[in-house]
Amino acid sequence: MDIEQPPLFRSAQEGFRWDAVAHQPYKQDGSAPFKDISRQVLFHQDDLGCELRYFEMDAGGYSTLERHEHAHAVMILRGRGECLLGAKVRPVRQFDLVSIPSMVWHQFRASNGEPLGFLCMVNVLRDRPQLPTDAELAEMKAVPAVARFLERR
Ligand code: MN
Repeated sequence: MDIEQPPLFRSAQEGFRWDAVAHQPYKQDGSAPFKDISRQVLFHQDDLGCELRYFEMDAGGYSTLERHEHAHAVMILRGRGECLLGAKVRPVRQFDLVSIPSMVWHQFRASNGEPLGFLCMVNVLRDRPQLPTDAELAEMKAVPAVARFLERR
């Protein structure tokens, strides 16, 4: 059997890292739709059909504002911040759960005081995220709480 199996055990390390898990800081230039975020793929198992990833934003960082056909299941593991889901902005903190349905706009923002880290469960097979057009962004910003969230610095 040549099928590569994941290690059966991987120890947690200091600072929300895990043994033999690559830490992938996202590259960013001036036009990047995200800020100060890293990704670690904790599990990728074809027999389960899903992947479990750990994302972390530095204080003040944020994930990409996006939507897609596939869903996400998220558990906040570290810190606090805010989550935009559709037309709603919610504060989130450690151990909160967020279900992100298909084709709903979403974005996470860390508080300015500390990093925000979350586990994200997702299908192995998934479509490419869509970014909002200017018209879609304008429509989102018609909701004052959403505009405040999106324009926060
Ligand atoms: Mn997403």
